Amino acid sequence: MTAAQTPEEFAKAWDESHISDKPASDVRHEDLKVYLGKLKELGLKVEEAGRSYGDREIYQVEWGKGPFKVFLWSQMHGDEPTATPALIDLFAFLETNREKIVWVGEMHNRLTIRAVPMLNPDGAEVFQRRNLQWIDINRDARSLKTPEGQLLKRLVDEFFPDVGFNLHNQQELTTAGRSFNQATISLLAVNGRPDNSTYPGYERNKRICAEIVRALENFIPGHIAQYSDSYNSQAFGDNISAWGSPVILIETGGYHGKGEDFLIRLNFIAFLTALRTMVEGRMEGADPEAYNSLPPNSSGRIFSLVIRNAEIVIPGKADKPYIADIGINRERRRAQFIPPVYVREIGDLSNRKGLEEVDASAYFVVPKEGSLRSGTLGSFMFYKKSREVKWDSENLEKDFPPDGIYLFGQWIKPLE
Ligand SMILES: [Zn+2]
Repeated sequence: MTAAQTPEEFAKAWDESHISDKPASDVRHEDLKVYLGKLKELGLKVEEAGRSYGDREIYQVEWGKGPFKVFLWSQMHGDEPTATPALIDLFAFLETNREKIVWVGEMHNRLTIRAVPMLNPDGAEVFQRRNLQWIDINRDARSLKTPEGQLLKRLVDEFFPDVGFNLHNQQELTTAGRSFNQATISLLAVNGRPDNSTYPGYERNKRICAEIVRALENFIPGHIAQYSDSYNSQAFGDNISAWGSPVILIETGGYHGKGEDFLIRLNFIAFLTALRTMVEGRMEGADPEAYNSLPPNSSGRIFSLVIRNAEIVIPGKADKPYIADIGINRERRRAQFIPPVYVREIGDLSNRKGLEEVDASAYFVVPKEGSLRSGTLGSFMFYKKSREVKWDSENLEKDFPPDGIYLFGQWIKPLE
């Protein structure tokens, strides 16, 4: 293995050494246990730190024996899984290379890294944000009514880390500023003070974030944004920062055309870059500009699919066709499930974009559900305008087979 110094080499290291072997969204608690078993075999310290409301084990992994303390936790929202396998791959890389790569050995001497991969195993099991009490753990930092929140608080209190990493996923249609680029990674140095006044750990975290930005720009230029920094008095990120362990929030979004592996790999590169910054002494010297100048997260600018210039025919109202664009969004589901697809906007979408776009100006477009409004299923039949179609036909699809069909987020019959 090379000495892995550059972001490209970190990427190569992930390609060659990662032990996660399925899409992050398909990783359940049982799969996590398999991953953790592999870490134990490598020699890592893996301990049960507590139990979830549903009595599932929550684990903490530890590596290193240095004075500077780093704490990371993932998947406190059960349906936000990307960072969990990335943490597993990170620890596998570090332990495997502790004696092979000089700077990894140095990191082992200078840092103590603890991580909780999958803080919310019950939510992960059913792929929902909340825990089994239906409480959002990330709004439980003060009230501490969830066993998962209580555990997180205890682990932070016991360890009192110098820096924390709060690892989440955001909507894949989040965009970077005024562009139509998906925000594949959004970062936030979490201030944690209601008045947003600055302090050294906060400024240091901005510099760490800037190093992450510079590393990731090699892979996703224009697709990195800054998460909204609005203070939330119930959130863990804000409170852990306020308790004296300044937090960096990493939110993983989507990247059209790339699978979940691509996102795990970006997380791995981000973590390794941040840790490398800490042992290299660049925490003090780095220029925060790359972070400060990030465009803010924005939403509502893109759709999963935009059907342009559709001449819409509603069965029963075929005498009143109208031309409009249709914006359709795919919901987030496990990789192994077909995601539901809903209509989200109808009208002039000339100032919006679709990750996928089709020009339907040569077609009549019929919603399969029979009606069309925001919230109806995004499934459509397409008929060439040159065809004679009896729209009031009893079984339209059977009597007049469509020239194109979009169903369950897929082109069952593509347009020519
Ligand atoms: Zn989240």
